[in-house]
Amino acid sequence: MSIIVENITKLYGKQKALDQVSFTVEPGQVVGFLGPNGAGKSTMMKIISCFIPQTEGRVTVDGFDVNDQPVEVRRNVGYLPEHNPLYLDMYVKEFLTFVGSIQLAKADVQKRVKEMIDVTGLGPEQNKKIGALSKGYRQRVGLAQSMIHNPCVLILDEPTTGLDPNQLVEIRQLIRTLGKEKTVILSTHIMQEVEAICDRVVIINKGKIVADDTTQLLQQQASDQGVIVVEFDKIVQEGLLKKVNGLVSAEMIRTNTWKIKGRKGTDIRQEIFRFAAETGLSVLTLQKEESNIESVFHQLTREK
Ligand code: ADP
Ligand code: MG
Repeated sequence: MSIIVENITKLYGKQKALDQVSFTVEPGQVVGFLGPNGAGKSTMMKIISCFIPQTEGRVTVDGFDVNDQPVEVRRNVGYLPEHNPLYLDMYVKEFLTFVGSIQLAKADVQKRVKEMIDVTGLGPEQNKKIGALSKGYRQRVGLAQSMIHNPCVLILDEPTTGLDPNQLVEIRQLIRTLGKEKTVILSTHIMQEVEAICDRVVIINKGKIVADDTTQLLQQQASDQGVIVVEFDKIVQEGLLKKVNGLVSAEMIRTNTWKIKGRKGTDIRQEIFRFAAETGLSVLTLQKEESNIESVFHQLTREK
């Protein structure tokens, strides 16, 4: 069940919310759609789910075109909108039965509602009003309604926004479990979320794709940036540090402790030891700074 997005442009009036966006999602992948607010994530997700039309370009889900075959696409896609709009006055079971009866044959509804309640762990809350549930349980109701017709693709727009740390862990776990059987695209502006759940990351900024890689590769790219924190035994003048081969920048962060950035792709640690030996300094500590997708994200999406 693959998703193919080709050269999608979306205009709202004169504003270009998406600009020639292309990417492919392979069956069974969990893809993180990462970007700052206003990047175009929700717009892209609405187009894939047939909620709004694109201005240009083409999207297919399992070979079905979102414009020409929307019924087939909707049958294959479950969509959890941003802010998860729900009927707060309805009871959980009543709501799921209502949604199910729109999408399923009558004979299947009760069985399917029960399955969804089990899958999403809504059992203890199933007889409560949705308005009485915590945000985490409301998200479960949202997930249950998005999956009631058993779609192969799940499009989840910021599914964890507003959850407390415990709920966050639970919902992420649930998404990971669902991702074993389904193709999932989820949007988020939380980098750690991508690291925790996704196989792949598509980073979008101002309507354009700025990165499309496996989570592993992006992490690798981040650690290749080679930022080293080194503590010397004595004061070193910044001018002297410039003698270190491959040094791009040096910043003193504590007494005698420097944050040193090396040229991309080079490991500057040996050069620092050589420099210390030649200038009669001792290296007391030397660490590679922890880096993650967050730093790559900032680099790719910061205002230029
Ligand atoms: P994200 O989900 O990444 O925060 P959106 O897709 O919601 O971004 O929005 C992308 C851009 O398009 C934003 O600048 C937003 O203001 C604009 N936009 C979104 N929806 C509409 C709309 N219905 N009418 C006009 N502009 C919109
Ligand atoms: Mg959004």
